[in-house]
Amino acid sequence: MKVIVIGAGVGGLVAAELFGKAGNEVIVFEKGGKDGWTYDWHDDVSRDIFAELGITIPKSEYFIKESWTFVTPDEKTELYVETPEETRDYSIERRGLAHILAERAQKVADIRFGTGAEALIIENDKVKGVIAGGEKHYADLVIDNSGVHSPFRASLPASYGVEREPDRNEVFYAYRGFHKRAEGSPDPRYTNKVYLKHLGEEGISWCILDPSGLVNILVGRIGSLPEATFRNAYQKLKESNPIIGDEVVRGGGVYAIPVRHPAMRFGGDGYALIGDSAFMTIPMMGSGIANSMLAASLLAEAVAKSGKADAETIWNYQVAYYKRVGAKHTGGDVMKRWMLTAKPEELDFLIGKGVINKNDMQSGSTGNDIALSFSAIMDKVKRAFPRIPLLLTLKGAVDNSKKAKKVASQIPENYDSDAIKAWENKVLAFFKK
Ligand SMILES: Cc1cc2nc3c(=O)[nH]c(=O)nc-3n(C[C@H](O)[C@H](O)[C@H](O)COP(=O)(O)OP(=O)(O)OC[C@H]3O[C@@H](n4cnc5c(N)ncnc54)[C@H](O)[C@@H]3O)c2cc1C
Repeated sequence: MKVIVIGAGVGGLVAAELFGKAGNEVIVFEKGGKDGWTYDWHDDVSRDIFAELGITIPKSEYFIKESWTFVTPDEKTELYVETPEETRDYSIERRGLAHILAERAQKVADIRFGTGAEALIIENDKVKGVIAGGEKHYADLVIDNSGVHSPFRASLPASYGVEREPDRNEVFYAYRGFHKRAEGSPDPRYTNKVYLKHLGEEGISWCILDPSGLVNILVGRIGSLPEATFRNAYQKLKESNPIIGDEVVRGGGVYAIPVRHPAMRFGGDGYALIGDSAFMTIPMMGSGIANSMLAASLLAEAVAKSGKADAETIWNYQVAYYKRVGAKHTGGDVMKRWMLTAKPEELDFLIGKGVINKNDMQSGSTGNDIALSFSAIMDKVKRAFPRIPLLLTLKGAVDNSKKAKKVASQIPENYDSDAIKAWENKVLAFFKK
């Protein structure tokens, strides 16, 4: 089989290796150059994915991430969520990871750096390949790993049923930079601070004292990050964190991240989405590296099993992804939307009084369910008194999130277009505007 991968992101590279190893002819088109096609910073990734895919990361490329401290919008509560070291994510150098994955893929695939895919070749309403470097390249399967704003989705025939663009409130725009530490600044009490609804705005900011001695800053907002919003948030973040200096050493741009449930359709005949192009992040935090790598392996498995790259096989891949993590993140998206609509003072109250506690924050940020057992509810009722209506809205959101997860996990296992449409409508009902 001939396979084309658009984009040498983490998922694209894992897919290239797995499809190449399975005996397919694989070409990867990556628009960026070989020396700097990926971000210059490190990211937190669940370590399980490396064990699962048999990828060894040398010690020089990662360290074990510190636990988060969540800060309420009024900055009066700092909730340190201590996580045992053995379950904490790896903080991995993105360039190191990309080079490791590219080296592995290059043994079995042809990676063409500096060559962007320009368009899909569509004939008789089916994807047949891509145009790249001004030439037509035909393939049995095109894997789209080109990111959240993939331009290729919009050119698909309507029969594929793939969404063109995410909604405005489903994309997070974040400034990320590693700054020099301000000279003579005192050590902070907590090294990894995330500001929830920072300044009451829709999004988060963080300030992390990196083991390298640099200060890792993020200011992210839903829908857009206007310059004035960034400047104001940056200034306020500096006032609360005197360690932040102005000299940028790594990163320093604004980048887009999908923060929503996975796509409702992962593709069709001869075409599959993986990673950010299929919105595969943990909605609450925007972490997508592990999911993208997992998706690549599930896609390779589905195609190896059927020996085809038809719509039914791509559906089987989607079913496998939803069963593993997609349904969970659909539930997580419900909670994320609740957090966004909650008033800042409601979060101040709920977190300040311990109604939302360390376990809840740990679960939400890693994409897991918030558990509300009877005893947990009784404890929350005590803490939330006299604001029981607010507790009820939180409970309503948690219940709704569980329902969304359940409905999403009931994805039809057979490729039946009526059943698929019905499932899609049921899931989307949770996200009606
Ligand atoms: C500021 C920030 C912080 C983040 N922190 C974390 C974190 O801590 N942990 C985590 O798990 N995730 C994090 N993420 C999210 C993570 O970066 C993404 O989820 C992940 O990179 C998605 O990988 P992917 O496989 O979809 O490919 P991507 O990494 O999105 O790569 C897509 C590739 O496609 C290429 N491309 C695009 N268009 C074309 C084209 N037309 N032709 C050829 N090539 C093309 C691009 O150059 C790029 O190399 C963060 C993202 C940002 C922006």
